Amino acid sequence: MTAHVKPKALDNFAARDFRMLIDGVWTEGSGPALERVAPGHGVVVSRYPAGTKADAERAIAAARKAFDDGPWPRMTGAERSNILLRAADLIAAKADELAFLDCIESGKPISQAKGELAGAADIWRYAAALARDLHGESYNTLGEGTLGVVLREAIGVVSIITPWNFPFLIVSQKLPFALAAGCTTVVKPSELTSGSTLLLGEILIEAGVPAGVVNILTGTGPEVGAPMTTHPDVDMVSFTGSTGVGRLTMANAAQTLKKVSLELGGKNPQIVFPDANLEEFIDAAVFGAYFNAGECCNAGSRLILHKSIAAEVTARVAALARKVRVGDPLDPTTQVGAIITPQHLDKIGSYVDGAATAGASVALGGTALDLGLGQFMAPTILSGVTPDMAVAREEVFGPVLSVLTFETTDEAIRIANAIDYGLSAGVWSRDFDTCLTIGRKVRAGTVWMNTFMDGASELPFGGYRQSGLGRELGRHAVEDYTETKTLNMHMGARTGWWMPR
Ligand code: NAD
Repeated sequence: MTAHVKPKALDNFAARDFRMLIDGVWTEGSGPALERVAPGHGVVVSRYPAGTKADAERAIAAARKAFDDGPWPRMTGAERSNILLRAADLIAAKADELAFLDCIESGKPISQAKGELAGAADIWRYAAALARDLHGESYNTLGEGTLGVVLREAIGVVSIITPWNFPFLIVSQKLPFALAAGCTTVVKPSELTSGSTLLLGEILIEAGVPAGVVNILTGTGPEVGAPMTTHPDVDMVSFTGSTGVGRLTMANAAQTLKKVSLELGGKNPQIVFPDANLEEFIDAAVFGAYFNAGECCNAGSRLILHKSIAAEVTARVAALARKVRVGDPLDPTTQVGAIITPQHLDKIGSYVDGAATAGASVALGGTALDLGLGQFMAPTILSGVTPDMAVAREEVFGPVLSVLTFETTDEAIRIANAIDYGLSAGVWSRDFDTCLTIGRKVRAGTVWMNTFMDGASELPFGGYRQSGLGRELGRHAVEDYTETKTLNMHMGARTGWWMPR
């Protein structure tokens, strides 16, 4: 039986009514509000305006005007940096309130939400430092008469579209870098978890970001997100979400040839050799699979175990997974919270059923957990999974771990790469050659060696193949939001077609 924490009823909880931010003005929607039911408690906790295409057009016009005529792109890097640092301080000061909103709207555990807020504040500080360091290049090597200067200019108006699984963290992987570059923005959080992003709007106004520089829209993807990807006044789209909607976003943006940055799904392998430190790996396997209820692009959802240790390792992972505390997101001891919606819980269940029908064995869990309120899923392990099964190839986005086996290093690499995704991977071995061989040959944006899902603002993050396009974080993150301009400068008499040579 899995350890669990029954959710306490949220009696007399006053749902919060939010408004959108357009051109510095907090705005009601024209239609009925979207209601957010807390996935861990089953009651309405937030209401957001159902934004429309007209709202998106107003927000884009405001961002365009702020870019073309406003002060933000014309400030010095130091001035923008100071405002971003103030924003980071305010995020840290309001971290509990922001974490509470993320916890209650997404169903993630409160302790984890607080950790994400601390990470987000750090990213804002990192972006603030980069705002002062953005620079181009000069070439004094092109001959006596020529000086070449390569400028970095803010790309313009950026649409930022984010998913529900890390609401505040993901907007923080995009927005401060776009702002550091001098861009103006239209931001759309997921319609399931918009609260903390709207609160960020208040923080940015308090920090001194001028009106129109950050506009925040709420509403559904097709209604409000789609115009953000097609409008000719938008210069770039930065999207995090599913591979399907990412593909659609790229196709939409192609109509006006916008720059597109995509952070999409993953089906990440952890490859384990017999000489690995198994105790450390078992902990990382449970963390990698069940952190954020497995609703994580980086989830280590495929274990690829050497055949000689597969039975022992699977049993030890299952024994530890049984101890994971699943339940009330607001309880500080909870490790795994609720599943985002009842429909998503059904989808996870159908992957488990499909795998069992295809021949896999349910070594742990496999069912929903009835804890009285909300929707929860038991940590699940499927053994005997083969690379051709849907559960081994597709993103389940739930607490479901698939166990596959290998005999040779080449086979492990083949299995790891035999999917459409390439976001991240892990390798466990005490042998340096083994780790480096896997690190070089697995096609993924991040490869962890003897650890899993560690991160830092300094380290670029993003995916190969259908896991995305471009990289976030790291010292080049601000450059992603720029155009490159060449100034080719001539001195002295010029020679040419009709001029004397
Ligand atoms: P989703 O693709 O359903 O939605 C993401 C965002 O796109 C939401 O704001 C949604 O409203 C919007 N959207 C939907 N339809 C749209 C349209 N037609 N035009 C414009 N916008 C539209 O994803 P989700 O369910 O919110 O999030 C889960 C997915 O996100 C998973 O696939 C996960 O792997 C991925 N993800 C990736 C990363 C990463 O960094 N690689 C991080 C977190 C999540």
